[in-house]
Amino acid sequence: MTTYKINEFFETIQGEGQYTGTAAIFIRLQGCPVGCSWCDTKHTWNVDGDKEITLKNVIEKNSETEQWADANAEQLLSFIQSQGYRAKHVVITGGEPAMYDLVPLCDLLHKNGYSTQIETSGTFELKVPDLTWVTVSPKINMAGGYEVLANCMARANEIKHPIAREKHVEELEHLIAKAPIADNALIYLQPISQKVSATKLAIETCKDKNWRLSVQVHKYIGIS
Ligand code: SF4
Repeated sequence: MTTYKINEFFETIQGEGQYTGTAAIFIRLQGCPVGCSWCDTKHTWNVDGDKEITLKNVIEKNSETEQWADANAEQLLSFIQSQGYRAKHVVITGGEPAMYDLVPLCDLLHKNGYSTQIETSGTFELKVPDLTWVTVSPKINMAGGYEVLANCMARANEIKHPIAREKHVEELEHLIAKAPIADNALIYLQPISQKVSATKLAIETCKDKNWRLSVQVHKYIGIS
């Protein structure tokens, strides 16, 4: 049976991309070998057997740790439902959630009235149902040496690309030329760290190319 290593889950508002403003339950899975130097969830990289805890311990965490709990789809859904969350949109993130077979979890969530979204680097084969909204934030030339896969780019409902400098825009254009996206896929540029120069570049590029701006609303309103 497929199980998932859960670093944390919580109810919040999605602050990025097409679902910005949507009440959402975030599930953060443990494990990522991609190696982005600026990663803000480095505590999810390693899967250390000594760090296993229970789902109850996960919900009680009050800081970011490498601890995780193992659960199958039914156990996870049941635990989420017991929290009294009201959101009906579930965002599966990481870490790199595409390291897991997400079909059993997403299918079960869909059957129980939830919509699902995955946020992935695009470097692992996706195992998600057709109904799942796929957000690819392509991680290009990172330390782990993983390539962004053409079939992930083609499956993406949206591309969300953090940028600070012109070279990040060029990287994305080069990638899309090599690995085309669907005609109806949306492209969001996200200024890194809310920097003024990055935001100006993103705005000008979005106007120029008819792309969209994603500003990480949660950081402006002070929620996680
Ligand atoms: S893919 Fe995501 S979780 Fe993995 S290192 Fe990069 S930013 Fe961090």
